[in-house]
Amino acid sequence: MLAHEGIKLELWIFSLAVLLGSPRAVGAAKATQSKDPKEAPRLAEVPIRQVVIDDKFWSPRLEVNRTKTLDHVYQELEATGSIRNFDVAAKKAAGKFSQPWWADSDVYKWIEGASYVLATHPDPALEAKVDDLIARIAAAQERDGYIDTHVQIEEPDLRWKDLAFFHELFCAGSLFEAGVAHYQATGKRALREVAIKLADCIDSTFGPGKMDGIPGHEEVELALVRLYRATGEQRYLKLAEYFLNGRGQKPSVFEREYNRLPADRMVNWLGGQTINVRFLDDHFFRAHPPAFDTSYSQDNLPVREQSVAVGHAVRAMYLYSGMADVAYETGDQGLMKTLDRLNDNVTLRRMYVTGGIGPSAKNEGFTDDYDLPNDNAYQETCASAGMVLWNHRMFKLTGDGRYIDLLEQSLYNAVLAGVSLEGSTFCYATPLACNTAFKRQPWFEVPCCPTTVARFFPSVGRYIYSQSEDGLWVNLYIGGQASTTLQEGWKVTVRQTTNYPWEGKVKLQVTLEKPEEFTLHLRVPGWAGESAVTVNGETISVPASKGYVHIHRQWSGGDVVGLSVPLEIQRLEANPKVLQSRGQVALRRGPLIYCLEQIDQTADLDRIVLPTRATLTDHFEPQLLGGVTVINGQARVRASSNSWDQYLYRPVQPTHTEAVAIKAIPYCGWGNRGHQEMRVWIDSAGP
Ligand SMILES: [Zn+2]
Repeated sequence: MLAHEGIKLELWIFSLAVLLGSPRAVGAAKATQSKDPKEAPRLAEVPIRQVVIDDKFWSPRLEVNRTKTLDHVYQELEATGSIRNFDVAAKKAAGKFSQPWWADSDVYKWIEGASYVLATHPDPALEAKVDDLIARIAAAQERDGYIDTHVQIEEPDLRWKDLAFFHELFCAGSLFEAGVAHYQATGKRALREVAIKLADCIDSTFGPGKMDGIPGHEEVELALVRLYRATGEQRYLKLAEYFLNGRGQKPSVFEREYNRLPADRMVNWLGGQTINVRFLDDHFFRAHPPAFDTSYSQDNLPVREQSVAVGHAVRAMYLYSGMADVAYETGDQGLMKTLDRLNDNVTLRRMYVTGGIGPSAKNEGFTDDYDLPNDNAYQETCASAGMVLWNHRMFKLTGDGRYIDLLEQSLYNAVLAGVSLEGSTFCYATPLACNTAFKRQPWFEVPCCPTTVARFFPSVGRYIYSQSEDGLWVNLYIGGQASTTLQEGWKVTVRQTTNYPWEGKVKLQVTLEKPEEFTLHLRVPGWAGESAVTVNGETISVPASKGYVHIHRQWSGGDVVGLSVPLEIQRLEANPKVLQSRGQVALRRGPLIYCLEQIDQTADLDRIVLPTRATLTDHFEPQLLGGVTVINGQARVRASSNSWDQYLYRPVQPTHTEAVAIKAIPYCGWGNRGHQEMRVWIDSAGP
């Protein structure tokens, strides 16, 4: 017994030494060496059906998405008429078009989400429901391949005539994505065929010598690249490039289109209203006539000349993602340089600490550098998910972990906050500070965010791993496993075990039929201090490069890699140019941003001050919000003898502070315990 204890103590001391990288630690395994790719590697996804998630943090959320969100969203799409629109367009039901003009996209997004679920979770009932829906969609398609139920039912003479706002190309892109996802998940071609017929219809309509047009809401560009990859049809890639290159003309495509629209034409709009067909152009493009400013749709400059993120944030994310996809396929250096500039602009000047973007409700998008209001932050859930889409593509182009840091920041904070823990209420706007009035909603008149949640979460598996010619990349620390075939034609499986983001230890077990030489690329998060890596228990001293440790060696089945990332509580301050967060701090632990909710405090949130030197500690609370690590601290509470009731402004009063305990929870768990005040940024003060 005693000898046993002695061995355990030895092992513990050895493990500690390994973790700290002390001289006691054994040196790098002989076959291990750093491999620093001189050129940007060409990274590919590990297909989603080959990635299994088995994770304490993610599995419950994905299960809620699969069992509740998906069904809730479907029922709303049925109840609100978005699905029935296809029956009306197919002349199998009577009635008018329901919902916003882009309602078809919400149905396609639901199918895409359901397809990701089917890829990893066979479900005959769900598959039958999807098949039935696809049949209804196919029945609505015109003989020439056109499909857009809004235009078909309400404005058939305006086909392709209001590209700025009718969203036909946006809906088309959503259809292409759903068609490819469904085919890849089930092997069934029905929706892919609908997508191909529509893509061919669009290709025969737009392009040199044909009609000149670009989408007002981007999406079709990235979706055409996706359809190109799934079919090998070069015309789709060319068409994606054509749509990108058409942006920023003088006069704008949209201005010429506006001048062709019948000035007195009225069209149906939300809630049974009727508006002039030019109303939205007048509102968004002609706010200061005679100027026709199309920056709302990123049409202010040709794409290769853009350096500032402008306009509607979701549109911008889809445009930049489409640019990255085309750059990936063509090696277009002009697009890559532009994407670098735009990514710097967004992430150094226009992004919330939660990884969300787009502060303003007026344009659902960007305003000025460093303008990041907290209490009325717009931070649309679709835009937050868009940050994941874009930064994932930036990573695939560069192999730079900086982009996975950004992806993770958006994913674990802004995106996750977009849905409640029970899975059937959602944020459209997602503030970083709120009063008691704000709450998530089960549905919206424009329901893009709920359908984004239904589509996005089942696809999380695609971000965890990547592969390149030389090996496998582990980007996110999420338990489960991935199997893939590397370029030599042999298969490798990696099983990941971790309690991230609550703990920073990760174990990766390699399975191979016979020893193989390749590189395992492990991400070391940019926010982390010194991390430790072991191979079969031995510390390896491989410096990280571009956010990854590249371990090149001959791997054998059963090899175990350990990674230990310190998860320290960090106080963050904003660039002083962000006036809205001056004199305040935000708390971060690992990838998670924290917030204060009133329910956890004994003092009013407005009076809490967190001194610079206040001690902060963390512990795991298994009963809270499904189990979260909270941060506790000793703050001060400002007290004043006079109430503010009679003042908006007054001379400074004598105040004193008293000690008060505070408790912060992860921002992604905010808003699940009734309506109450919340703050991400906390007033700070000197010692
Ligand atoms: Zn949205």
